[in-house]
Amino acid sequence: MNILVLNCGSSSLKYQLFNMNGEIVLAKGLCERIGIDGSQLKHEPSGKDEFICQKEMKSHTDAVQMVLDALLDANHGVIKSIDEINAVGHRVVHGGEFFVDSAIITDEVIKAVEECSSLAPLHNPPNLIGINACKELMPKVPQVAVFDTSFHQTMPEKAYLYAIPYELYDKHKIRKYGFHGTSHRYVSAEAAKLIGKPLESLKLITCHLGNGASVCAVDKGKSVDTSMGLTPLEGLAMGTRSGDLDPAVIPFIMEKEGLSIKDAENMLNKKSGVLGVSGVSSDFRDIEQAADDGNERANAALELFYYRVAKYVGSYATAMNGVDAIVFTAGLGENSKIARAKISEYFGYLGVKVDTAKNDCRGKAVIFSTDDSTTKALVMPTNEELVIARDSKMLLDK
Ligand code: AMP
Repeated sequence: MNILVLNCGSSSLKYQLFNMNGEIVLAKGLCERIGIDGSQLKHEPSGKDEFICQKEMKSHTDAVQMVLDALLDANHGVIKSIDEINAVGHRVVHGGEFFVDSAIITDEVIKAVEECSSLAPLHNPPNLIGINACKELMPKVPQVAVFDTSFHQTMPEKAYLYAIPYELYDKHKIRKYGFHGTSHRYVSAEAAKLIGKPLESLKLITCHLGNGASVCAVDKGKSVDTSMGLTPLEGLAMGTRSGDLDPAVIPFIMEKEGLSIKDAENMLNKKSGVLGVSGVSSDFRDIEQAADDGNERANAALELFYYRVAKYVGSYATAMNGVDAIVFTAGLGENSKIARAKISEYFGYLGVKVDTAKNDCRGKAVIFSTDDSTTKALVMPTNEELVIARDSKMLLDK
Protein backbone atom coordinates (compact mmCIF):
# COMPACT_ATOMS: atom_id res chain seq x y z
CA MET A 1 0.00 0.00 0.00
CA ASN A 2 1.35 3.46 -0.99
CA ILE A 3 0.34 6.59 0.90
CA LEU A 4 1.03 10.12 -0.29
CA VAL A 5 1.49 12.52 2.64
CA LEU A 6 0.87 16.22 1.99
CA ASN A 7 1.58 19.26 4.12
CA CYS A 8 0.13 22.35 2.46
CA GLY A 9 1.18 25.81 3.57
CA SER A 10 -0.03 29.11 2.15
CA SER A 11 2.53 29.08 -0.68
CA SER A 12 4.25 25.74 -0.23
CA LEU A 13 3.48 22.04 -0.39
CA LYS A 14 5.70 19.34 1.15
CA TYR A 15 5.12 15.72 0.21
CA GLN A 16 6.36 12.19 0.85
CA LEU A 17 5.22 9.00 -0.82
CA PHE A 18 5.47 5.97 1.48
CA ASN A 19 5.34 2.32 0.60
CA MET A 20 3.74 1.04 3.80
CA ASN A 21 5.10 -2.47 3.27
CA GLY A 22 8.21 -1.72 5.28
CA GLU A 23 7.39 1.99 5.70
CA ILE A 24 9.85 3.00 2.97
CA VAL A 25 9.96 6.54 1.59
CA LEU A 26 9.73 6.21 -2.21
CA ALA A 27 10.08 9.94 -2.88
CA LYS A 28 9.80 13.27 -1.14
CA GLY A 29 9.83 16.86 -2.21
CA LEU A 30 8.71 20.43 -1.91
CA CYS A 31 6.79 22.91 -4.08
CA GLU A 32 7.66 26.49 -3.22
CA ARG A 33 6.31 29.92 -4.15
CA ILE A 34 2.89 28.58 -5.21
CA GLY A 35 0.92 31.52 -6.63
CA ILE A 36 4.04 33.71 -6.59
CA ASP A 37 6.62 34.40 -9.33
CA GLY A 38 9.47 31.90 -9.45
CA SER A 39 7.66 28.77 -8.26
CA GLN A 40 9.59 25.52 -8.31
CA LEU A 41 9.33 21.84 -7.47
CA LYS A 42 12.20 19.95 -5.85
CA HIS A 43 11.66 16.20 -6.14
CA GLU A 44 13.88 13.64 -4.42
CA PRO A 45 13.13 10.10 -5.58
CA SER A 46 14.81 7.46 -3.45
CA GLY A 47 17.78 5.89 -5.23
CA LYS A 48 17.58 8.33 -8.16
CA ASP A 49 18.91 11.82 -8.90
CA GLU A 50 17.17 14.83 -7.46
CA PHE A 51 14.96 16.67 -9.96
CA ILE A 52 14.21 20.41 -9.91
CA CYS A 53 11.51 21.91 -12.11
CA GLN A 54 10.92 25.65 -12.35
CA LYS A 55 7.45 26.11 -13.74
CA GLU A 56 4.59 28.43 -12.89
CA MET A 57 2.22 27.02 -10.23
CA LYS A 58 -0.76 29.34 -10.07
CA SER A 59 -2.57 27.29 -7.45
CA HIS A 60 -2.24 24.31 -5.13
CA THR A 61 -4.08 22.29 -7.79
CA ASP A 62 -1.20 23.06 -10.19
CA ALA A 63 1.26 22.06 -7.45
CA VAL A 64 -0.47 18.73 -6.72
CA GLN A 65 -0.58 18.06 -10.49
CA MET A 66 3.18 18.71 -10.70
CA VAL A 67 3.82 16.37 -7.76
CA LEU A 68 1.78 13.63 -9.47
CA ASP A 69 3.63 14.22 -12.77
CA ALA A 70 6.98 13.95 -10.96
CA LEU A 71 5.92 10.74 -9.16
CA LEU A 72 4.78 9.21 -12.48
CA ASP A 73 7.64 10.47 -14.68
CA ALA A 74 9.50 7.86 -16.75
CA ASN A 75 12.93 9.07 -15.53
CA HIS A 76 12.60 10.36 -11.98
CA GLY A 77 9.23 8.85 -11.11
CA VAL A 78 8.68 6.05 -8.59
CA ILE A 79 5.25 4.70 -9.62
CA LYS A 80 3.72 3.77 -12.98
CA SER A 81 0.08 4.67 -12.44
CA ILE A 82 -1.94 6.95 -10.18
CA ASP A 83 -3.79 3.80 -9.06
CA GLU A 84 -0.64 2.95 -7.08
CA ILE A 85 -1.51 5.76 -4.65
CA ASN A 86 -3.93 4.12 -2.22
CA ALA A 87 -4.60 7.16 -0.03
CA VAL A 88 -3.56 10.74 0.61
CA GLY A 89 -2.84 11.78 4.20
CA HIS A 90 -3.06 15.50 4.91
CA ARG A 91 -1.54 17.38 7.79
CA VAL A 92 -4.31 19.61 9.12
CA VAL A 93 -3.24 22.09 11.76
CA HIS A 94 -6.44 22.79 13.72
CA GLY A 95 -9.13 20.26 14.49
CA GLY A 96 -10.65 22.27 17.36
CA GLU A 97 -12.76 20.16 19.71
CA PHE A 98 -14.18 18.21 16.76
CA PHE A 99 -11.34 15.75 16.30
CA VAL A 100 -9.80 13.57 18.99
CA ASP A 101 -8.32 11.32 16.29
CA SER A 102 -7.40 11.36 12.63
CA ALA A 103 -10.36 11.06 10.25
CA ILE A 104 -11.21 9.91 6.74
CA ILE A 105 -12.15 13.07 4.86
CA THR A 106 -15.85 13.40 4.13
CA ASP A 107 -18.00 16.47 3.45
CA GLU A 108 -18.76 16.66 7.20
CA VAL A 109 -15.04 16.57 8.03
CA ILE A 110 -14.35 19.35 5.53
CA LYS A 111 -17.14 21.42 7.09
CA ALA A 112 -15.66 20.97 10.57
CA VAL A 113 -12.15 21.89 9.34
CA GLU A 114 -13.67 25.00 7.75
CA GLU A 115 -15.28 25.86 11.08
CA CYS A 116 -11.86 25.63 12.74
CA SER A 117 -10.37 28.08 10.22
CA SER A 118 -11.18 31.05 12.45
CA LEU A 119 -8.93 29.44 15.11
CA ALA A 120 -6.07 28.95 12.61
CA PRO A 121 -6.59 31.46 9.81
CA LEU A 122 -3.03 31.08 8.48
CA HIS A 123 -3.00 27.29 8.47
CA ASN A 124 -6.40 25.64 7.95
CA PRO A 125 -7.34 27.46 4.71
CA PRO A 126 -4.22 26.23 2.82
CA ASN A 127 -4.76 22.75 4.29
CA LEU A 128 -8.30 22.81 2.87
CA ILE A 129 -7.05 24.05 -0.50
CA GLY A 130 -4.71 21.02 -0.61
CA ILE A 131 -7.58 18.66 0.24
CA ASN A 132 -9.79 20.18 -2.46
CA ALA A 133 -6.96 20.03 -5.03
CA CYS A 134 -6.57 16.28 -4.35
CA LYS A 135 -10.35 15.75 -4.54
CA GLU A 136 -10.28 17.38 -7.96
CA LEU A 137 -7.26 15.50 -9.31
CA MET A 138 -7.73 12.14 -7.58
CA PRO A 139 -11.47 11.86 -6.94
CA LYS A 140 -11.39 8.12 -6.29
CA VAL A 141 -8.47 8.11 -3.83
CA PRO A 142 -9.48 8.17 -0.14
CA GLN A 143 -8.10 11.08 1.86
CA VAL A 144 -7.31 11.31 5.55
CA ALA A 145 -6.86 14.34 7.83
CA VAL A 146 -4.32 14.11 10.64
CA PHE A 147 -4.56 17.00 13.08
CA ASP A 148 -1.82 18.77 15.04
CA THR A 149 -4.31 19.34 17.82
CA SER A 150 -6.03 15.96 18.27
CA PHE A 151 -3.38 14.34 20.50
CA HIS A 152 -3.94 17.10 23.05
CA GLN A 153 -7.71 16.62 23.26
CA THR A 154 -7.07 14.41 26.32
CA MET A 155 -5.98 17.45 28.36
CA PRO A 156 -8.15 17.96 31.44
CA GLU A 157 -10.28 21.07 31.73
CA LYS A 158 -7.96 22.58 34.36
CA ALA A 159 -5.14 22.50 31.79
CA TYR A 160 -7.03 23.81 28.78
CA LEU A 161 -9.25 26.53 30.25
CA TYR A 162 -7.95 30.10 30.27
CA ALA A 163 -8.86 32.21 33.30
CA ILE A 164 -11.05 34.57 31.27
CA PRO A 165 -14.87 34.83 31.31
CA TYR A 166 -16.21 31.32 30.72
CA GLU A 167 -18.72 32.63 28.16
CA LEU A 168 -15.80 33.26 25.80
CA TYR A 169 -15.05 29.53 25.85
CA ASP A 170 -18.74 28.72 25.37
CA LYS A 171 -19.21 31.24 22.58
CA HIS A 172 -15.92 31.18 20.69
CA LYS A 173 -14.18 28.00 21.92
CA ILE A 174 -11.28 30.05 23.25
CA ARG A 175 -9.09 27.57 25.14
CA LYS A 176 -5.72 25.87 24.94
CA TYR A 177 -5.56 23.35 22.08
CA GLY A 178 -1.83 22.67 21.66
CA PHE A 179 0.04 21.77 18.48
CA HIS A 180 2.86 19.47 17.27
CA GLY A 181 0.57 16.65 18.46
CA THR A 182 1.76 14.15 15.84
CA SER A 183 5.35 14.79 16.91
CA HIS A 184 4.69 14.50 20.66
CA ARG A 185 2.66 11.34 20.06
CA TYR A 186 5.35 9.75 17.88
CA VAL A 187 8.38 10.56 20.05
CA SER A 188 6.66 9.55 23.29
CA ALA A 189 5.79 6.12 21.81
CA GLU A 190 9.31 5.69 20.39
CA ALA A 191 10.88 6.83 23.67
CA ALA A 192 8.96 4.13 25.55
CA LYS A 193 10.34 1.53 23.12
CA LEU A 194 13.89 2.80 23.62
CA ILE A 195 13.48 2.77 27.41
CA GLY A 196 12.02 -0.72 27.15
CA LYS A 197 8.86 -0.10 29.18
CA PRO A 198 5.18 0.12 28.17
CA LEU A 199 4.13 3.67 27.29
CA GLU A 200 1.14 3.17 29.60
CA SER A 201 3.52 2.90 32.57
CA LEU A 202 5.52 6.08 31.90
CA LYS A 203 5.42 9.78 32.71
CA LEU A 204 7.22 11.52 29.84
CA ILE A 205 7.94 15.13 29.00
CA THR A 206 8.56 15.67 25.30
CA CYS A 207 10.35 18.81 24.11
CA HIS A 208 9.79 19.58 20.42
CA LEU A 209 12.47 22.22 19.88
CA GLY A 210 12.56 23.45 16.32
CA ASN A 211 11.77 26.76 14.73
CA GLY A 212 8.37 26.29 16.37
CA ALA A 213 8.78 24.80 19.84
CA SER A 214 6.53 23.19 22.41
CA VAL A 215 6.70 20.96 25.48
CA CYS A 216 4.15 18.27 26.30
CA ALA A 217 3.37 16.28 29.44
CA VAL A 218 2.55 12.73 28.32
CA ASP A 219 1.12 10.66 31.16
CA LYS A 220 0.62 6.97 30.30
CA GLY A 221 0.61 7.83 26.58
CA LYS A 222 -1.89 10.68 26.87
CA SER A 223 -1.23 14.40 26.57
CA VAL A 224 -2.22 16.04 29.86
CA ASP A 225 -0.75 19.47 29.19
CA THR A 226 1.21 21.30 26.52
CA SER A 227 2.80 24.69 26.14
CA MET A 228 1.17 25.98 22.94
CA GLY A 229 -2.34 27.36 23.29
CA LEU A 230 -5.26 28.59 21.21
CA THR A 231 -2.57 29.27 18.62
CA PRO A 232 1.09 28.25 18.33
CA LEU A 233 2.12 31.60 19.82
CA GLU A 234 1.82 30.58 23.47
CA GLY A 235 4.50 28.86 25.50
CA LEU A 236 8.22 28.72 24.83
CA ALA A 237 10.20 31.45 23.14
CA MET A 238 10.66 30.23 19.55
CA GLY A 239 12.60 31.13 16.42
CA THR A 240 10.47 34.21 15.74
CA ARG A 241 7.50 33.82 18.16
CA SER A 242 7.44 35.47 21.56
CA GLY A 243 5.80 32.67 23.51
CA ASP A 244 4.41 33.63 26.94
CA LEU A 245 4.28 37.26 27.99
CA ASP A 246 2.17 39.48 30.17
CA PRO A 247 -0.99 40.09 28.07
CA ALA A 248 -0.82 43.75 29.11
CA VAL A 249 2.40 44.10 27.09
CA ILE A 250 0.38 43.92 23.86
CA PRO A 251 -1.88 46.98 24.25
CA PHE A 252 1.08 48.80 25.83
CA ILE A 253 3.28 48.23 22.76
CA MET A 254 0.40 48.97 20.39
CA GLU A 255 -0.11 52.33 22.05
CA LYS A 256 3.58 53.26 22.39
CA GLU A 257 4.56 52.14 18.89
CA GLY A 258 1.29 53.02 17.13
CA LEU A 259 0.70 49.46 15.97
CA SER A 260 -2.51 48.00 14.57
CA ILE A 261 -3.76 44.55 15.70
CA LYS A 262 -2.24 43.04 12.54
CA ASP A 263 1.11 44.82 13.19
CA ALA A 264 1.17 43.55 16.77
CA GLU A 265 0.32 40.02 15.66
CA ASN A 266 3.05 40.19 13.05
CA MET A 267 5.60 41.44 15.57
CA LEU A 268 4.80 38.69 18.08
CA ASN A 269 4.78 35.93 15.44
CA LYS A 270 7.53 37.00 13.07
CA LYS A 271 9.90 39.41 14.80
CA SER A 272 10.11 38.11 18.35
CA GLY A 273 11.51 34.98 20.00
CA VAL A 274 15.24 34.34 19.77
CA LEU A 275 15.37 36.46 16.59
CA GLY A 276 13.91 39.46 18.39
CA VAL A 277 16.10 39.13 21.48
CA SER A 278 19.37 38.29 19.67
CA GLY A 279 18.89 40.57 16.67
CA VAL A 280 21.00 37.98 14.86
CA SER A 281 18.79 35.28 13.35
CA SER A 282 15.94 32.89 14.05
CA ASP A 283 18.26 29.99 13.31
CA PHE A 284 19.82 28.51 16.41
CA ARG A 285 23.00 27.62 14.51
CA ASP A 286 23.62 31.30 13.76
CA ILE A 287 22.79 32.33 17.32
CA GLU A 288 25.05 29.65 18.85
CA GLN A 289 27.85 30.86 16.56
CA ALA A 290 27.25 34.52 17.45
CA ALA A 291 27.19 33.71 21.17
CA ASP A 292 30.45 31.81 20.71
CA ASP A 293 31.89 34.90 19.08
CA GLY A 294 30.99 36.97 22.14
CA ASN A 295 27.65 38.49 21.07
CA GLU A 296 25.90 39.18 24.38
CA ARG A 297 22.38 39.47 23.01
CA ALA A 298 22.78 36.15 21.22
CA ASN A 299 23.86 34.65 24.52
CA ALA A 300 20.89 36.27 26.31
CA ALA A 301 18.48 34.82 23.71
CA LEU A 302 19.87 31.30 24.18
CA GLU A 303 19.85 31.53 27.98
CA LEU A 304 16.24 32.79 27.94
CA PHE A 305 15.24 29.97 25.59
CA TYR A 306 16.90 27.21 27.69
CA TYR A 307 15.47 28.65 30.92
CA ARG A 308 11.92 28.62 29.59
CA VAL A 309 12.17 25.05 28.34
CA ALA A 310 13.47 24.04 31.78
CA LYS A 311 10.64 25.88 33.56
CA TYR A 312 7.98 24.14 31.45
CA VAL A 313 9.59 20.78 32.14
CA GLY A 314 9.55 21.60 35.86
CA SER A 315 5.89 22.55 35.80
CA TYR A 316 4.96 19.37 33.90
CA ALA A 317 6.91 17.23 36.36
CA THR A 318 4.64 18.81 38.98
CA ALA A 319 1.52 18.32 36.85
CA MET A 320 2.26 14.57 36.58
CA ASN A 321 3.71 14.28 40.09
CA GLY A 322 6.95 12.95 38.64
CA VAL A 323 8.71 12.24 35.38
CA ASP A 324 10.50 9.14 34.11
CA ALA A 325 12.15 10.66 31.05
CA ILE A 326 12.63 13.96 29.24
CA VAL A 327 12.69 13.60 25.46
CA PHE A 328 14.31 16.06 23.04
CA THR A 329 13.24 16.23 19.41
CA ALA A 330 13.01 18.44 16.24
CA GLY A 331 15.76 20.53 14.62
CA LEU A 332 17.41 21.90 17.75
CA GLY A 333 16.50 19.06 20.11
CA GLU A 334 17.87 16.41 17.75
CA ASN A 335 20.97 18.27 16.60
CA SER A 336 22.29 20.59 19.29
CA LYS A 337 24.26 18.89 22.04
CA ILE A 338 24.84 22.37 23.51
CA ALA A 339 21.11 23.06 23.88
CA ARG A 340 20.46 19.61 25.39
CA ALA A 341 23.33 19.96 27.84
CA LYS A 342 22.44 23.53 28.87
CA ILE A 343 18.74 22.70 29.40
CA SER A 344 19.61 19.50 31.28
CA GLU A 345 21.77 21.50 33.73
CA TYR A 346 18.47 22.62 35.29
CA PHE A 347 17.40 19.03 35.96
CA GLY A 348 19.83 18.14 38.73
CA TYR A 349 16.91 18.03 41.20
CA LEU A 350 15.24 15.42 38.98
CA GLY A 351 18.37 13.26 39.06
CA VAL A 352 19.32 13.83 35.41
CA LYS A 353 23.07 13.48 34.81
CA VAL A 354 24.30 14.01 31.27
CA ASP A 355 26.77 11.54 29.81
CA THR A 356 28.80 13.92 27.65
CA ALA A 357 29.99 11.21 25.27
CA LYS A 358 26.45 9.89 24.72
CA ASN A 359 25.14 13.44 24.25
CA ASP A 360 27.67 13.97 21.45
CA CYS A 361 25.20 12.79 18.80
CA ARG A 362 22.95 14.19 16.09
CA GLY A 363 19.63 13.00 14.75
CA LYS A 364 19.58 9.53 16.30
CA ALA A 365 17.67 7.88 19.12
CA VAL A 366 19.91 7.88 22.21
CA ILE A 367 19.53 7.86 25.99
CA PHE A 368 22.12 10.51 26.83
CA SER A 369 21.73 10.49 30.61
CA THR A 370 24.09 8.32 32.67
CA ASP A 371 22.91 4.85 33.67
CA ASP A 372 22.52 5.93 37.32
CA SER A 373 20.29 8.95 36.48
CA THR A 374 16.93 8.67 38.26
CA THR A 375 15.22 10.50 35.38
CA LYS A 376 16.38 9.66 31.87
CA ALA A 377 17.13 12.19 29.13
CA LEU A 378 16.69 11.11 25.52
CA VAL A 379 17.13 12.31 21.96
CA MET A 380 14.38 10.95 19.70
CA PRO A 381 14.15 12.04 16.04
CA THR A 382 10.60 12.93 15.14
CA ASN A 383 8.78 11.77 12.01
CA GLU A 384 5.44 13.51 11.60
CA GLU A 385 5.02 12.33 7.99
CA LEU A 386 5.28 8.70 9.05
CA VAL A 387 2.57 9.23 11.69
CA ILE A 388 0.30 10.69 9.00
CA ALA A 389 1.01 7.73 6.70
CA ARG A 390 0.42 5.22 9.52
CA ASP A 391 -2.85 6.84 10.58
CA SER A 392 -4.02 6.90 6.96
CA LYS A 393 -3.23 3.20 6.56
CA MET A 394 -4.89 2.33 9.85
CA LEU A 395 -8.10 4.15 8.87
CA LEU A 396 -8.10 2.54 5.43
CA ASP A 397 -7.54 -0.94 6.88
CA LYS A 398 -10.61 -0.42 9.09
P1 AMP B 1 12.70 22.38 12.63
O1 AMP B 1 11.71 23.49 12.73
O2 AMP B 1 12.39 21.20 13.47
O3 AMP B 1 13.09 22.03 11.22
O4 AMP B 1 14.06 22.98 13.30
C1 AMP B 1 14.73 24.04 12.68
C2 AMP B 1 15.71 24.63 13.66
O5 AMP B 1 16.62 23.62 14.12
C3 AMP B 1 16.58 25.66 12.95
O6 AMP B 1 16.08 26.94 13.22
C4 AMP B 1 17.91 25.49 13.61
O7 AMP B 1 18.06 26.57 14.46
C5 AMP B 1 17.86 24.24 14.43
N1 AMP B 1 18.98 23.36 14.10
C6 AMP B 1 19.07 22.46 13.10
N2 AMP B 1 20.28 21.86 13.12
C7 AMP B 1 20.98 22.40 14.15
C8 AMP B 1 22.29 22.20 14.70
N3 AMP B 1 23.14 21.33 14.17
N4 AMP B 1 22.64 22.95 15.76
C9 AMP B 1 21.80 23.84 16.29
N5 AMP B 1 20.57 24.06 15.82
C10 AMP B 1 20.15 23.36 14.77
